[in-house]
Amino acid sequence: MKIASLFAEKTVFSFEIFPPKKTSPIETVYDTLEALQDLHPDFISVTFGAGGSGNGENTLAIARRLKERYGVLPMAHLPCIHYNKAQIDQILEQFQENGIENILALRGDRVEGLTPTTDFNHAADLIRYIRSKTGSFDIAGACYPECHPEAPNMDTDIRHLKEKVDAGASHLITQLFFDNDSFYDFRYRAARAGVNVPIEAGIMPVTNRKQIERMVTMCGASLPRKFTKIVQRFEDNPEALRDAGIAYAIDQIVDLVTDGVDGIHLYTMNNPYVARKISEAVGGIIKAATKC
Ligand code: FAD
Repeated sequence: MKIASLFAEKTVFSFEIFPPKKTSPIETVYDTLEALQDLHPDFISVTFGAGGSGNGENTLAIARRLKERYGVLPMAHLPCIHYNKAQIDQILEQFQENGIENILALRGDRVEGLTPTTDFNHAADLIRYIRSKTGSFDIAGACYPECHPEAPNMDTDIRHLKEKVDAGASHLITQLFFDNDSFYDFRYRAARAGVNVPIEAGIMPVTNRKQIERMVTMCGASLPRKFTKIVQRFEDNPEALRDAGIAYAIDQIVDLVTDGVDGIHLYTMNNPYVARKISEAVGGIIKAATKC
């Protein structure tokens, strides 16, 4: 099943997970999959390290397990900057052989010590390439409500986003954000620029201090005063910070769903407890907002 077809029917609710570190066996993620499938997301996306040191074996294995064992629709991420065409062909073949139909096509981040191949400089190149080879994949792309950190400004970034959609991305998933107004502003500007595919809002429940620092350094998400107040007040009380982080994410989702967002993509950080709390709180609202 192609994920793009879901947006016509409903407000989509999906999860993101990541494979275990290379030093841990893949089985360490199985309990997480078991717990998450029980929450009945519309699909689960599986990240893929951009390093080019492997060929996404764990991403594929997890996507396959989701589909075959749990009947959950998987989406495999695919970063391209460190792969050449032959390597991408091989990965696509494996996806096809294993019935993986949905791909999140990404450029990926540059990895220190690795020289990018020049076959794919941007995600749009990968999307165009996949579309030229086969029509059997549904392809999504990433977008950035607060501008991609390397883009000189939002207008330029949105122009590049439009190229991604013109190349064949059928829907988009945003980088995490904590200020819904930044999403609304971005969505308006993207629509005005002709980006007319569904956009899922990426929500990350922040549940510990280290995670917040890492996220802000990595993606530059701005932190509203309401959010920083919570962190400052509860930083020494992990349980309270976790609960407040969950409540903050729920509040964001309720506002987005009320506003008619196309979908919510929850960055679960492989934490089924947090995913469950949020799913239980917003499940009824998402159902009520569904378009059919
Ligand atoms: P692009 O769309 O190529 O954009 C990257 C930059 O290039 C932007 O600044 C854009 O404006 C610019 N650009 C685009 N086209 C052009 C052009 N023609 N000329 C000049 N500049 C241009 N990374 C991973 O390694 N693995 C993952 O699994 C993963 N999952 C992600 C999931 C989501 C939902 C998101 C939002 C990000 C994810 N990332 C992942 C991170 C992502 O790879 C990085 O953010 C990366 O820096 C950009 O990827 P992109 O696909 O958005 O790149």
